Amino acid sequence: MARKDPLHFLNVPRRMPRITPAELRIQEFKEITGHYDKDQAGEQAARCIDCGNPYCEWECPVHNYIPHWLRLIEDGRLFEAAELSHKTNSLPEMCGRICPQDRLCEGACTLNDGYGAVTIGSIEKYITDEAFKQGWRPSVEAQPTGKRVAIIGAGPAGLACADVLIRHGVQPVVYDRYSEIGGLLTFGIPPFKLEKDVVRTRREVMEGMGVQFILETEIGRDVALEKLIEDHDAVFMGMGTYDAVTGGFPGEALPNVHPALDYLIGNVRNVEGWAQQGDGFIDLKGKRVVVLGAGDTAMDCNRTAIRHGAASVTCVHRRGEGQLRGSRKEYKNAREEGVQFLFNRQPVTIEEADGQATGVRFMRTRLTADEQGRNRIEAVEGSEEVIEADAVVVAFGFRPDPADWFRDHRITLHEDGRVLAAEHGPYLMQTSNPKVFAGGDMVRGADLVVTAVYEGRQAATGIIDYLGLGAVELPGQQVH
Ligand code: FAD
Ligand code: SF4
Repeated sequence: MARKDPLHFLNVPRRMPRITPAELRIQEFKEITGHYDKDQAGEQAARCIDCGNPYCEWECPVHNYIPHWLRLIEDGRLFEAAELSHKTNSLPEMCGRICPQDRLCEGACTLNDGYGAVTIGSIEKYITDEAFKQGWRPSVEAQPTGKRVAIIGAGPAGLACADVLIRHGVQPVVYDRYSEIGGLLTFGIPPFKLEKDVVRTRREVMEGMGVQFILETEIGRDVALEKLIEDHDAVFMGMGTYDAVTGGFPGEALPNVHPALDYLIGNVRNVEGWAQQGDGFIDLKGKRVVVLGAGDTAMDCNRTAIRHGAASVTCVHRRGEGQLRGSRKEYKNAREEGVQFLFNRQPVTIEEADGQATGVRFMRTRLTADEQGRNRIEAVEGSEEVIEADAVVVAFGFRPDPADWFRDHRITLHEDGRVLAAEHGPYLMQTSNPKVFAGGDMVRGADLVVTAVYEGRQAATGIIDYLGLGAVELPGQQVH
């Protein structure tokens, strides 16, 4: 598939859609990255040189057919691009927005050698946003097979599983304890990275395809897993990881020390008008805020606090600047918006007066090597300092929190609590209970939206095969 002008990239630089300047974007909870129009998308797509060995596809966890849909966009064939994009990815408009492209597809683009990567994520977002706007919908051509599958969790893994099942004639019934679909797409990732209308549109599209959602229903409390297993031909679990990692130092239970997810969920509910006045909302206006941690969750807390009008936001990480766990893009955004960063500091205790946190005591750290030459973080004796704070947000990440009923149903776990699911058959993503499949964060540990999508899709193929409907090889997935 030759490009029209293989040297186009020499004349047209990489241009992202317009990014709202920091001083304006901190006043609102809107997405900071704008949208391409048709000409801009075509012009940027045409920068792809079709290098013949598309490293971008290999680095993309769902192995999107990137050069192919770039070419379709260059030619103005939007609906064909949308159809192709949905063959490998169930949520392309979300991934285009929030994947850490700098370390996935765009990080692998050949044009990084001096020209700037093709803006793959922004074009992926453009394709689905624009196609939906123009009335395109994913095709569901398969005849109903009469089979029904219960899906626990309407996060990316559950939605991706439902998407593949319905397209193969299997009826998915998706249960979630929350009032909206999306999992962390809705109740975690803040609206300045992903506006909630995008998730609402996806829900309408999926309902239009025939997916059923049963919300505000917690499995294990409102409905027993037993019942789901009895009433359906198979069950998929995509329940995420929700056990917040704590620091284990004194003071974490103080009322003005907040777990990251409580803070972020309270904010989304407030912004979207889903909460009663003040219900669960943690207002950090005018406060000196210290955020502990430096992954994507910490960056989201930092930037939320800035938007709440915090007097200052200081993010403290026990490692150095070069060892951030999250996306560089989000770190850059946070810096631009006024977050201050302190590196190589490890919290020792949260200082307290009158039952409230007043600051965090830190020790400096340095990188050393252990006897095997592995990197080790070491606290520096006598280096204690206190950073004053009116509120502390703890964002150390999440680990799996297996429910008791997993074991009751012969679902085997890894030692760290992750659900064990078959990566290589006989039925992909099947657990030790043959009728139950699993994927996403509860299998991988806290990871990414795109990897949860990948596993939800894998599990759907395992389920279809298990139900005797034939082996399905999804485009883009056979490379694993
Ligand atoms: P989840 O999204 O957690 O969905 C699980 C769903 O299961 C939830 O809706 C939950 O309510 C439901 N559920 C759980 N138990 C039950 C039950 N018993 N009954 C009924 N329903 C149940 N990834 C990126 O790629 N880019 C980012 O920028 C990014 N930012 C992030 C920011 C934050 C603050 C966080 C916390 C995560 C971020 N991630 C990001 C990670 C990403 O959101 C997750 O990896 C992804 O959402 C995992 O998908 P999942 O479907 O496995 O689980
Ligand atoms: Fe890149 Fe993510 Fe899209 Fe793959 S899904 S092309 S990694 S933005």
